[in-house]
Amino acid sequence: MLTPEQVEAIKGELISLSPEDQQKKLKEIISKLSPEEREQLVGKQQCPFCLMVEGKIPTRKVFEDDKVLAVLDINPANEGHTILFPKNHFDSLQEIPESITQNLFSVANKISKALIEANLCDSTNIIINNGASAGQTSPHILINIIPRNEKDKVSIGWDHQKISDSKMDSALDLIKKKIPKEKPKEIKKSSYIDSHPRIP
Ligand SMILES: [Zn+2]
Repeated sequence: MLTPEQVEAIKGELISLSPEDQQKKLKEIISKLSPEEREQLVGKQQCPFCLMVEGKIPTRKVFEDDKVLAVLDINPANEGHTILFPKNHFDSLQEIPESITQNLFSVANKISKALIEANLCDSTNIIINNGASAGQTSPHILINIIPRNEKDKVSIGWDHQKISDSKMDSALDLIKKKIPKEKPKEIKKSSYIDSHPRIP
């Protein structure tokens, strides 16, 4: 446990920093503490999405299994806007184990299909704001499934940039180096062609 002097020393160190640096420093300090010490310093953190999982915040539940929960967004972009998230707390997409990311995408697609089949929309945006610079405002990483119709008022977009060939090549190189190598699974040609016939 931290002594009151240690708590004061940490607070004194943080107070002189800018809000962004405070967040960074606090994260760094917290990562070295035990759960009890963390609670001592910042109090019991109440992630609203974890509280939804625990049933302590009322929700309109769209889907639930042992790993994920999907509820209607209380500030929707459109009617039927659903948010889907892992039941365990993860700050970012990078932290989620593979078994859960697979489940998340599969459920996201089920919900997207349901929205279309229910005639709430003819299209969907499936969006993850992963990290503050990408617009993540929730402490718990989540997926937005936004129903879309022609001429609705939702706006999602970006300007296209011109990037030189050499920069494209070096980006490609950097990315590929960081992707774990997996042996590509052999796909039997015949079965692939059978199940995915090409329409000439
Ligand atoms: Zn949470």
